Amino acid sequence: MNAERGRTRGYDAVLVGGGHNGLVCAAYLAARGLSVCILERRDVVGGAAVTEAFHPGYRNSTASYTVSLLDPGVIRDLRLAEHGLRIVERPFANFLPLPGPDYLKVGGGLAVTQQQVARFSARDAERLPAYFAMLDGVADVLRGVLHVTPPNVRQGRRDLGTFLEFMRLSRRFRTLDLAARRDVVDLFTKSAGEILDRWFESDGIKAAFGFDAVVGNFQSPYSPGSAYVLLHHVFGEVNGRRGQWGHARGGMGAITQAMARECAARGVVIRTGTAVDQVVVKRGRATGVALASGEVVSAKRVIANVNPRLLFERLVAPEHLDADFRARIAAYRCGSGTLRMNVALAELPDFIALPGTAPAPHHASGIIVARSLAYMERAYFDARTHGWSKAPIVEVLIPSVVDDTLAPPGHHVASLFCQHVNPDIASVRPGSTWDDHRDAVADLMIAAVDAVAPNFARSVIARKVLTPLDLERDFGLVGGDIFHGALALDQLFSTRPVLGNADYRMPIRGLYLCGSGAHPGGGVTGIPGRNAAREILRDVRRRR
Ligand SMILES: Cc1cc2nc3c(=O)[nH]c(=O)nc-3n(C[C@H](O)[C@H](O)[C@H](O)COP(=O)(O)OP(=O)(O)OC[C@H]3O[C@@H](n4cnc5c(N)ncnc54)[C@H](O)[C@@H]3O)c2cc1C
Repeated sequence: MNAERGRTRGYDAVLVGGGHNGLVCAAYLAARGLSVCILERRDVVGGAAVTEAFHPGYRNSTASYTVSLLDPGVIRDLRLAEHGLRIVERPFANFLPLPGPDYLKVGGGLAVTQQQVARFSARDAERLPAYFAMLDGVADVLRGVLHVTPPNVRQGRRDLGTFLEFMRLSRRFRTLDLAARRDVVDLFTKSAGEILDRWFESDGIKAAFGFDAVVGNFQSPYSPGSAYVLLHHVFGEVNGRRGQWGHARGGMGAITQAMARECAARGVVIRTGTAVDQVVVKRGRATGVALASGEVVSAKRVIANVNPRLLFERLVAPEHLDADFRARIAAYRCGSGTLRMNVALAELPDFIALPGTAPAPHHASGIIVARSLAYMERAYFDARTHGWSKAPIVEVLIPSVVDDTLAPPGHHVASLFCQHVNPDIASVRPGSTWDDHRDAVADLMIAAVDAVAPNFARSVIARKVLTPLDLERDFGLVGGDIFHGALALDQLFSTRPVLGNADYRMPIRGLYLCGSGAHPGGGVTGIPGRNAAREILRDVRRRR
């Protein structure tokens, strides 16, 4: 019924992009009776959370590959479990092959991790419970603001409302004791390296924890602000277990296909293979979108699921924006140092440190090839000056060990998440693009894994490589930025994407942002989509 109303009179809302946040936003709006249409450029919805075949008989999550941050409220409200979503936990979090025949396992319970860490440092093992408690305490502060619309600084001197909102939020901070307040400030401002060096002395455990600080973040673990990226990766949970990461059976596409099913059940019209060319603005108000085909889809409001730079630099004509806003958007930092690869494997990796190709718990964990924070820092500096890390940081996840729907029996698929590659390759290799370096750098990433598991390279049957350029071309991720913009203090909360437009309302009436470029940022959370829907519904009630 909603769809019919939309076709004849224009929709109540049209979404640009069918990433997971767009699906979530649409589902909440449709639940309140709005007629909603999603326009997705690719042939499949889900954006960076999709499962696709990359070689006959082998499929895997194409971009994002592991679940933790997905909001439990979204899982419940969109009935994702009823639509078939199953998330399985990893037996333990991480396996780090270390130089020589050594390794470190992290996870599987505190006592087990302590035993593992004690092999390298008894002091570090003793400090683990206090470290986890500290991190969880600060993560609680973050959890407390995830669902909040950030106070939005407005024009004018007497912005009492914003001041009161800040005061209300600061109450959460005031309930913490002084040490906890110091921890909050440290984790929001310092480098992960500084914090980890203060807590621990052995390299392996610092590398295991520090990995989260460089994921999708083109920085050294010693860059100020990198501790926040680490924190951003620990606020989640799997099946109610905090801080855990898990696997969605069928890959990340299982999440977004379940979301799409709920959207369909609520009457949302989803059009794939439909690229939006321009947001139509009439008398200062967004009234719909023009498609690449020339068709215009009219709507009372336009909701963008895309990166804010893509929205304002390519889809909104400049005359609708003031010069200061345009300059701020141009300065909005986008660019992850990541290369993503899927490989089809004839057999599991046979690690020097833990031999054997029969499926074992370490094969089902996040395998981190990076031995220390110093190694990670070198990886960053190499990429800055040379274009890519000579000794890269690679996380290997082999979902087929826990999910038999992805590869033929006995065979496997692995996700390789590789850091760092310079998203602005022309800045260090003038005249070249990532198309010129894709294969050589992919070989290097495979060689890095082969150095710790010498059967790896020869077991690769096929591979699909996504450089930052591919991520931008295929998914609209500007600069290959996996979070739709760096997660840095100047691009978070009331300043995401730009101070004055942090409440999901963009500077054109009727235009909203519901993707990861809005608070609370990237990751498969569904929270920007959910928060945006709440604000849009508020405006619908106020007839704005
Ligand atoms: C390589 C990689 C690995 C990652 N790993 C993880 C992980 O393991 N776990 C995790 O939680 N997060 C991970 N992330 C981050 C997470 O996937 C993203 O932050 C999140 O999926 C973004 O969701 P979104 O809905 O905000 O936007 P997107 O998923 O980017 O969706 C935007 C949609 O808009 C569409 N679009 C673009 N332009 C147009 C247009 N002109 N017209 C119509 N449609 C358009 C795009 O095709 C896309 O479908 C990863 C991301 C990447 C890229």
